[in-house]
Amino acid sequence: MTRTTLDQLVSLCKRRGFVYPSSDIYGGLASAWDYGPLGVQLKNNLRDRWWRTMTRGDLPIVGLDAAILMHPRVWEASGHTSAFNDPLVDCRNCKARFRADHIEDPTGPCPQCGASELTEARQFNMMMRTTLGPVEDGGTGVYLRPETAQGAYVNFKNVVQSGRVKVPFGIAQVGKAFRNEITTKSFIFRTCEFEQMEMQFFVHPDHDERWFEHWREARYRYYADLGMRPSRLRLRPHGPDEIAHYAKVAVDIEYDFPSGWQELEGIHNRTDFDLRRHAELSRKDLTYLDDGSSGGAQGERFMPYVIETAVGLTRTVLAVLADAYDEDEVDGETRAVLRFHPAIAPITVAVFPLVKKDGLAELAREVAADLRADHDTFYDQGGAIGRRYRRQDEIGTPYCVTIDHRTRDDGTVTVRLRDSTEQLRVHRDRLRGQLAELTAGYSRTERP
Ligand code: ATP
Repeated sequence: MTRTTLDQLVSLCKRRGFVYPSSDIYGGLASAWDYGPLGVQLKNNLRDRWWRTMTRGDLPIVGLDAAILMHPRVWEASGHTSAFNDPLVDCRNCKARFRADHIEDPTGPCPQCGASELTEARQFNMMMRTTLGPVEDGGTGVYLRPETAQGAYVNFKNVVQSGRVKVPFGIAQVGKAFRNEITTKSFIFRTCEFEQMEMQFFVHPDHDERWFEHWREARYRYYADLGMRPSRLRLRPHGPDEIAHYAKVAVDIEYDFPSGWQELEGIHNRTDFDLRRHAELSRKDLTYLDDGSSGGAQGERFMPYVIETAVGLTRTVLAVLADAYDEDEVDGETRAVLRFHPAIAPITVAVFPLVKKDGLAELAREVAADLRADHDTFYDQGGAIGRRYRRQDEIGTPYCVTIDHRTRDDGTVTVRLRDSTEQLRVHRDRLRGQLAELTAGYSRTERP
């Protein structure tokens, strides 16, 4: 098993078309990244999988897509205007900036230049401001949302009244969020513009602890089911000194990133903090009238508690890339391989004619066209077959299908498996079924 460095990943991502620096031809923009052809496919697959898991599971969870721009009072109610701060220290000598809680000794020497010139920590609000309306000084100051969660709270009443759900139920949302982060030199781990996948699960206050346990287990299992290495995943409960102002208990699912153990997903018991605050500031009644199905008494009116699961989609892309990266030896050569779970690999199957002539290219194009109905399929007829396999290994394609002269005679093709390099002979009529079976039964062979 090989551990990859962040630099290796950044370089592979650019070379193969996963992630590019934003505005690359102008020298890039700090902390902004663009997702290339393979990156956007991987990101979409991860988003779809999360969305399906949430909205097609056994529990009633409905979707929402709230606007990025929200009424400024939303952020007063949530506490972001007054409390969404990070402590910032500057070095007077080299002008570097740090988050005081991210450096070893904020009163000691500068971690970059070593000078004893660090300023005192000052609080810095991380929300990004912009102006709504055509005139800058006459427009309304608004914020780009720093989290998607508030969309679910301010729409709680709408969702309940439109009659689709009863407590306990969830609202799932995926979308962009923006934060003026102080330290961003960690590729797509921490960026100022990012995507979140958040789910707010509304429960009777007497049942919050049970639901918190439920979501902690379910979300941990989700990553294990994605085939991620168990040795790089852990649950870390928040201590009393770090817990957010809105939460009663919180646990992070941490991943052992190239930079060490860091948060991938947060699970919080947010109590009725947000609904209560929005009820206060909007003067709307956000209580819920129980018909008995929430586990409380029929006719009881209460403010639901919320269990939140919050994960960065773009941060998940990094975790999945780091987790998938491996090097092994094939035919005496070192091979770089991304061992993505087939369900999320940007390309599921590559189809090659062994040679272009003898009608094999036409046959291979036909096979590729058949597969396209179910799978992201890539056709490649250029170069030695070994090199074509290696290219697919490096971008994480789990299956390569080769059409050779025997295909013309008996209709069979070779399916070559990325992880083991094992080859199976399958009739082309059975190919779609065979790939579906392989994907359903996939487990990574070595998962330390
Ligand atoms: P961190 O401690 O890493 O700054 P956080 O505790 O502020 O994260 P939350 O507010 O709980 O994060 O956001 C939920 C999730 O959103 C995080 O677990 C993370 O995956 C993702 N996330 C938060 N901030 C960023 C960011 N700047 N860039 C990318 N993803 C982020």
